[in-house]
Amino acid sequence: MTGITILGATGTIGLNTLDVISQHRDRFQVVALTAHENVERLYQQCLTWRPRYAVMVKTDAAEQLQAKLKSVAPEIEVLSGTEGLITVAKLPEVDMVMAAIVGAAGLLPTLAAAEAGKRVLLANKEALVMSGALFMAAVQQQGAELLPIDSEHNAVFQCLPPAKFDGQAVSELASQGIRRILLTASGGPFRTYPIDALHDVTPDQACAHPNWKMGRKISVDSATMMNKGLEVIEACWLFNASPQQVDVVLHPQSVIHSMVEYVDGSVLAQLGNPDMRTPIAYALAWPERMSAGVSPLDLVQTAKLEFEAADWQRFPCLRLAYEAMAAGGTSTTILNAANEIAVAAFLDGQLKFTAIPDVIERTLSQLTGRPVVQLETILEDDAKARLLATEIVAQH
Ligand code: NAD
Ligand code: MG
Repeated sequence: MTGITILGATGTIGLNTLDVISQHRDRFQVVALTAHENVERLYQQCLTWRPRYAVMVKTDAAEQLQAKLKSVAPEIEVLSGTEGLITVAKLPEVDMVMAAIVGAAGLLPTLAAAEAGKRVLLANKEALVMSGALFMAAVQQQGAELLPIDSEHNAVFQCLPPAKFDGQAVSELASQGIRRILLTASGGPFRTYPIDALHDVTPDQACAHPNWKMGRKISVDSATMMNKGLEVIEACWLFNASPQQVDVVLHPQSVIHSMVEYVDGSVLAQLGNPDMRTPIAYALAWPERMSAGVSPLDLVQTAKLEFEAADWQRFPCLRLAYEAMAAGGTSTTILNAANEIAVAAFLDGQLKFTAIPDVIERTLSQLTGRPVVQLETILEDDAKARLLATEIVAQH
């Protein structure tokens, strides 16, 4: 039995992970489940899965969960806070950690899982964007396996030369005959929306993704295409690529999940229905394959696969992400922090959609990134960027 901790069990990725595991109960043992504040959902999951540990980040939520579990499942230990998340990421009986917390809150427990040498199933791209160098060093030093869940990176992972990628960073792309990585992007809900009407779009419009059902933060990121920008940065770290080696192509059908181009002109692509259970099952079973409950791809029904260039004028967040990656150091930490503040303000109705890139750009111009020497540098710049971005939001 493979022991697994699911960080962010109550979110979209968490639910999809439990769905896949429910099809393979003979192989996986859920050791710990975590959530931020949704007591009722984690309580129901505890009844179904009977984990050894349940973590609610908020103390009052943890107390409520403990009270509810007392009479029905007193054996489940309820923990709280970031400390609780870190504890369940490192448990000796845990082999794999699904890192599916949204945003910077996922950094410390995800890093703890890497430092404990686990197989890390990485959905939380923000952790890598904030601390790529430290994160990859921890993975290598501790012999952890870092397997991407993000559908694009999972696709690239599947298209790389098999012997060369062992769940750790690959060697130089060029030495493996790879010319570039091509990340596909649906273009989100506003790919063809009139540019001059974008300032009036609502959070619900921004969250209505044409192909994927996701949490609200990543849905807004998809609408601004910051999601693709974060994914470019994620790809650079995961696959040891320079930003110049990672290109983005719009592909509205979301059937090709990404591609790897080789020097001989071959382009390998991974295709499938847009369903996160495919990359989740792939990473859970790797290097084997197992069923995911995903319906087969019907190419005749799909009929058309279209491609377009990504328009940096429509999607300035994409440009900002490339620039931050090229600047290096904590610039991507600052980019991520400002984006989280701006997206939260937009979802709260305090900021226009079109002001999101403006807040990020102004934060980056007023706070210069520094070389990353230790985790504290990252946490300090993350905190400074949040304060500054909050001030900039207030001026809007
Ligand atoms: P979601 O909002 O549906 O779920 C987020 C989860 O994180 C929940 O379980 C929530 O309880 C937990 N959480 C939220 N804030 C927290 C905090 N401060 N501390 C601890 N836990 C907290 O999000 P999602 O769509 O499942 O996305 C999760 C991650 O996976 C994100 O980083 C996202 O970018 C990435 N991802 C998601 C998809 C997708 O299809 N949903 C695809 C690729 C990558
Ligand atoms: Mg993705």
